[in-house]
Amino acid sequence: MLPRFWRKIKYRYDLVGTRCENCGNYYYPPRNLCPVCRRKSEIKEVKLSGKGEVVSYTVVHDAPEDLKAQKPYIIALIKLEEGPLITAQLVCEPDEVKIGMKVRKAFRKYGEESEAGIIYYGTKFVPDE
Ligand SMILES: [Zn+2]
Repeated sequence: MLPRFWRKIKYRYDLVGTRCENCGNYYYPPRNLCPVCRRKSEIKEVKLSGKGEVVSYTVVHDAPEDLKAQKPYIIALIKLEEGPLITAQLVCEPDEVKIGMKVRKAFRKYGEESEAGIIYYGTKFVPDE
């Protein structure tokens, strides 16, 4: 079941998660309940920094037929500095990406191209040098 947070438009471009005030854990996507504290959960919404590092990645070569001109792109599993993991597109050259590379959320908006469901709400990441 989708937490109610996901239905709100404002979360499409901001990286908003939740933090449990009781134990200090951060969650992204946002959760209504802390799985550690359960009934003692004290959930607050927080805007995440958008900084993190690459844990793993995949270079995707096979674009759909109508996007053949598009270059290969990178889908990365990123560990945010607050702790949660997020899967998102990483915008850089495939030969630049490395495990442990510092990245940050890109501030540009990307319209509706996240319809495929792989890329959460259009959030993309870029190298943070
Ligand atoms: Zn907790």
